[in-house]
Amino acid sequence: MTPNNTPNRALQQDARAWSKFTGTKYTTALRQMSSPLAQGLLGKRVSARHLIRTLSEHDLVGARGGDPVLGENGFRSESPWQLDGKSDFIELALITEFLRMFTPTSAAEVGSYSLKHTAEWFLSPRCSYVSNGRLIWAAAAMGLSITDPDGEGPNLLIGISEREHDYVRRMVGHGQSRPRADHYLPAGYEHLRDALTRAGAGELVTSDWVPPVPTDEPAPFHDWLVRQVGRNDAVGDLAGDYSAGVHDSDHHLARTAGDLLTIFHETSHSAEAYDAAVTSIAEWMRTAPSVDPIRTKPVGESKDDHQGWGAGAGTTERYEYLCPCGAGAIIEEHDNIPGFREHDVRIFCDKCREEWRFVEGRGVRDWALEPTAMNTAA
Ligand SMILES: [Zn+2]
Repeated sequence: MTPNNTPNRALQQDARAWSKFTGTKYTTALRQMSSPLAQGLLGKRVSARHLIRTLSEHDLVGARGGDPVLGENGFRSESPWQLDGKSDFIELALITEFLRMFTPTSAAEVGSYSLKHTAEWFLSPRCSYVSNGRLIWAAAAMGLSITDPDGEGPNLLIGISEREHDYVRRMVGHGQSRPRADHYLPAGYEHLRDALTRAGAGELVTSDWVPPVPTDEPAPFHDWLVRQVGRNDAVGDLAGDYSAGVHDSDHHLARTAGDLLTIFHETSHSAEAYDAAVTSIAEWMRTAPSVDPIRTKPVGESKDDHQGWGAGAGTTERYEYLCPCGAGAIIEEHDNIPGFREHDVRIFCDKCREEWRFVEGRGVRDWALEPTAMNTAA
């Protein structure tokens, strides 16, 4: 980017503006502008002139000809900026990179004060102190949506995904329970961590990060289940617990009904909650007749040669799956022996044999389950 150490014109202009704004020497400002950490890790290089302009022109936090309305402690705070002239610009650039990893939202969702702590934890030790005011400043310069919920400050709401923020906060926060599922992992998280390490070691990270195209993988069962939240019955309770678990990244999305059973296998739960899951799957399959029936999790398989029964050698195959409740098994067996061919699949669990049956019209290898309660009126 800057071959033979000649700073480019934009960098020089930025250094000049920052040195004037902070009252530091041009060479000191230029050293900050030239830092590998300030060359843009998840986007373009942050412009010092744009940052300075934001403080005067931004719709909400800009002075717009009057007295400053943004200070170190936040909005409508009297506290002046404590810019140290050594790392202040690099730190603002890093706060910008931190904000860039999240999906922007049109409605402002996350409190700046909470966000500033997360930024501190995430950026430590390269930026060990992030003020409320600087967090708001960087967000304003980026053009994120910002609102003032109570008209008083000093904290504002910032337009990034609340769920993604919660995820990162739990990844980097102290004494927090770590997320167990990654559906709210911000797209730029891993890239930024890697880029911070490399740039922090002096490497010029030149490749611009390309945000992935969001995939809209269908999640029909999930969509149906969250619509049941608020119902005054066992399915409504289950839907409420499920939604809270997704919200907090405690478990994965149940894109299909089978995924819900997997979640139950992986998390502790009451017997009542499991029964509600079976009831909800039965209702879902009744209301959406074309949905795929359920396959459960494979847990083992074996294939053996068999010497046969006089008419030549053959093989046997045995596949084991969890039963829906997880306490027993589904065993699928194939005897491929001349003169003796048998294909069979059975449920080895008393509870599941009552609650589930094999879907008619499918082959043994293609077995699938549906709840017996499907035909019972709700
Ligand atoms: Zn079972």
